[in-house]
Amino acid sequence: MSEDPRVLLVEDDASLASMLRELLEGEGYGVEVAPDGRRALHLGLSRHFDVMVLDRGLPGIEGLDVLERLRKHGVPTPALVLSALSNPADRVEGLDRGAEDYLGKPFDIDELLARLRSLLRRHLDTSAVLRVPAGVLDTASRTVTRPDGTQVVLSERESELLAHLGRRPGQVFTRSGLLESVFQDAGEGGVVDTYVHYLRRKLGRSCVVTVRGLGYSLGPLA
Ligand code: CA
Repeated sequence: MSEDPRVLLVEDDASLASMLRELLEGEGYGVEVAPDGRRALHLGLSRHFDVMVLDRGLPGIEGLDVLERLRKHGVPTPALVLSALSNPADRVEGLDRGAEDYLGKPFDIDELLARLRSLLRRHLDTSAVLRVPAGVLDTASRTVTRPDGTQVVLSERESELLAHLGRRPGQVFTRSGLLESVFQDAGEGGVVDTYVHYLRRKLGRSCVVTVRGLGYSLGPLA
């Protein structure tokens, strides 16, 4: 179980990529590098990341095209574009096409790290759309869109519980921790089991994993 934030680093300049990898790993991030647009798309669709750092000029698919395609597939991972294309019109285009933040090259390393921290904080607290093993959860409408396109509507508590687990996939949550953070201590630990049972009835048994003796977790993303 790892709580290190995972970053997808999309950069075709090999020396810059390895410098950034070293820097980010030194700050406690788990780093995966994609050297071209196709690899970035593949990784972004198949694995969970907490944040991505995205170059624009890439072999294969341009950075913003990668981002647009990920967004179309419901991948909500916040993206910081890091690009030499950094005049105001470039920045506007990047933000309009799905980026959460934009930093021009050359950049200041401390500023990059601070922006990533800020992005992670904001995203953990407020992201409305999350990928979960059962599909894509939209917390605003409390619906899960299954891989086959069907939608399942959740109650407010069910949605909150699934979102809480989904913001840290792979992390194990104890009943008492969930009781405190999701149910504001209303009731006893049994209420957590009850809502896990409701979720499983709606979304299938494997939508939440029981970790024996510890609590609950979400399984890996498909
Ligand atoms: Ca480039």
